[in-house]
Amino acid sequence: MTTKTPITVAHGDGIGPEIMDATLRVLEAAGAQLDVETIEIGESVYNRGISAGIEPESWESLRRTKVFLKAPITTPQGGGFKSLNVTVRKTLGLYANVRPCISYHPLVETKHPEMDVVIVRENEEDLYAGIEHRQTDQVMQCLKLISKPGTEKIVRYAFDYAQRNGRKKVTCFTKDNIMKLTDGLFHEIFDEVAKDYPDIENEHWIVDIGAAKLADTPEAFDVVVMPNLYGDVLSDVAAQIAGSVGLAGSANIGEQAAMFEAIHGSAPRRAGQNMANPSGLLLAGVMMLVHIGQPEIATAVHNAWLRTLEDGIHTYDLFAEGVSTEKVGTREFADAVIERLGQSPQKLKSVSYAGSAGTAVPTWTPAPPAKKEMVGVDVFLDWNEGTASDLGEALSPTGNGDLSLAMITNRGVKVWPEGFDETFCTDHWRCRYLAPDGQVASHAQVVELLGRVNAAGFDFIKTESLCTFDGEPGFSLGQGQ
Ligand code: NAD
Repeated sequence: MTTKTPITVAHGDGIGPEIMDATLRVLEAAGAQLDVETIEIGESVYNRGISAGIEPESWESLRRTKVFLKAPITTPQGGGFKSLNVTVRKTLGLYANVRPCISYHPLVETKHPEMDVVIVRENEEDLYAGIEHRQTDQVMQCLKLISKPGTEKIVRYAFDYAQRNGRKKVTCFTKDNIMKLTDGLFHEIFDEVAKDYPDIENEHWIVDIGAAKLADTPEAFDVVVMPNLYGDVLSDVAAQIAGSVGLAGSANIGEQAAMFEAIHGSAPRRAGQNMANPSGLLLAGVMMLVHIGQPEIATAVHNAWLRTLEDGIHTYDLFAEGVSTEKVGTREFADAVIERLGQSPQKLKSVSYAGSAGTAVPTWTPAPPAKKEMVGVDVFLDWNEGTASDLGEALSPTGNGDLSLAMITNRGVKVWPEGFDETFCTDHWRCRYLAPDGQVASHAQVVELLGRVNAAGFDFIKTESLCTFDGEPGFSLGQGQ
């Protein structure tokens, strides 16, 4: 007897229940061995005053099954509600967002008939840590965090994915010409990890020109791995230019759990009319089957789906005179896929998931920590009482032989000493104090410095320790240096 894999299913809002029914019917007819636990998420839960949109008992199901097939939900308008996706992603540590963006020319209109790109987006770090502060009257801050473990995990995931799915190349996008430490780390780890996969080509693009190339010539890319923000933007761009926003599924993969969903929303205007296209969720279901080790069923479902599309049996969103043969509803579309189980497409490329079963979940291997030494401190001030020269003059006496004022910048531009009158200054100042060359500063010296800055009447809003790691500065040097 084959053992069934427990999965948690949420039918969601709007068109969610209809496309989930269609999806589960197809998976079942194909012989998927699933033991389904159903949970409620979304609007009805939000409306019961649960700001995360998910009940505590539902977490128990997710922690038990570790596999979540999720229909789209409607996020209520207005404040106070948290994004369910972000909550699930962060709580379950789903660090990899995988989104295949494939064109189905000539059945689905696209300017890029050869496009077959998989975007692998880091899902937990970068500017999405949600650490934001208003620091002064004029300035807000959002912290961009890139970690060694986070980066190594996502980059290894991308190379493993390429290897298991017979893909030839992994491309990395960063902006490390500007963000030398954060994006620099991502790029450096990409280069290191690439060495472990000699059979897979690797390349790095600066994200701006890389994004332009991706939008213009997507057929030049295969698997593309990126930090969170670039991946968020470019996975939508890629899905859109493939012409398949309504057809794309995505996976969110973690070390312990995984979530699979369509990339579109709950389309409330189409709800309850047997109109919606279930393809995005069905393809997410295919990714789920591969993940839980049922690759033959995944292959059968995907090929039957391609054949249905190719036979011109289309829901309203894809229906086009001359291309389509029959306009069908959600249920009838699922029936058509079920009828074609065992068949393969004849014009579109068929798929095979043999050999790609399971989802390798790379862990990272910590290296011995570098030797860390504090050599100074950046003290950030909220100050609006004069020019940069006035500030330099007033602040200089707060330094002493242990830590002396070396530089002031405003929005990263050096304004003291020897600033330009032309530089626009806000009320947010970074004041850099350094220990004498070759000397190490102590926390006690920093505390004493802050005491003197306070006594001189300045409003300090934060400090950043300036450290070297094995002698290499762990801080940007500031423009003009
Ligand atoms: P949407 O994706 O729901 O709809 C955009 C357009 O695409 C609409 O015209 C819709 O009719 C059409 N469409 C979408 N999916 C379709 C399908 N399967 N078949 C046929 N047509 C389809 O985006 P929206 O209107 O901006 O958002 C509606 C709701 O969905 C909002 O509450 C939003 O917050 C939510 N949303 C949820 C998720 C999620 O749960 N993962 C993702 C995106 C949006």
